[in-house]
Amino acid sequence: MKLEGIHHITAITGDAQGNVDFYTGVLGLRMVKKTVNQDDPSVYHLFYADEHGSPGADLTFFEFPGAAPGRAGEGMVHRVVWRVVSEEAIGFWQERLGGHDVACEWVDPPAPGAGSALRFRDPEGLEHELRVARTSDPPLIADHPEVPAEVALQGFHEARAYARAPEASQRLLETLGFSPRDGAWEVRGERRGGLWVYDAPPDDRGRQGAGTVHHIAWASEMDDHEEWRRRAIEGGARPTGVIDRFWFRSIYFREPSGALFEIATLGPGFDADEPLEHLGEKLVLPPRFEPAREQIEAQLTPIENPRTALR
Ligand code: ZN
Repeated sequence: MKLEGIHHITAITGDAQGNVDFYTGVLGLRMVKKTVNQDDPSVYHLFYADEHGSPGADLTFFEFPGAAPGRAGEGMVHRVVWRVVSEEAIGFWQERLGGHDVACEWVDPPAPGAGSALRFRDPEGLEHELRVARTSDPPLIADHPEVPAEVALQGFHEARAYARAPEASQRLLETLGFSPRDGAWEVRGERRGGLWVYDAPPDDRGRQGAGTVHHIAWASEMDDHEEWRRRAIEGGARPTGVIDRFWFRSIYFREPSGALFEIATLGPGFDADEPLEHLGEKLVLPPRFEPAREQIEAQLTPIENPRTALR
């Protein structure tokens, strides 16, 4: 039994429209679900991913309208690393991001043979890195008229969190099947793998807010999910019960260094309630919220998906 890499990463936005514009319009991801926060249906939960809404490429945002900017600190994910396939892709993104007034930093390969990387922040300060990575994992790419497939983002490669004493997490990570690799923890299943890395934290305390990561989810095969919950307990964590998120099932627990972990199933998937070709176009509500659709829609700020305008 193995976890299949990163399932999704969830962050916070205070500006839903600015968020949609950046992730779909600039980064070229596809909005694959426009729904509400299941714990507070008065605000959005927006999901971006590849063309098929695949786990492994799914960045999601809780909307807290007007939320103050946050700051990543101890126990928080501070950088999301995406795969690209070539140095040409780095050049393409440097130019494209620059054209949208996004400041970028070209990072030289850390070792001979390693790939270059480009670092930048989203409009609310969430840090991203595009890294040239050699892998046989299938590329998870979204279609965008201005982003050729050969330079597009190919899904998550790594997530990095701040921790002062990361050895505290070792036992739990090992119980969950993470294995050490060149200073990172690798989690790799049959289809896909990803990396989890701790960096020394800054002096300033973290503050959850706009532009910070809320949690990271690891991918489980449908049939293994209950067993992962038992493993998490065995590793010293205190997971929630299984929560049905409709598009997947989830458990949540805090790992010893402070990051909020989720283990989410690979299915049923985002096409369980709308056809693949129309993902993300309409507000979709899990069935239990459907009777309150009218009130819910009245509270939400209308947002426009630039993908629709580009077609
Ligand atoms: Zn989640």
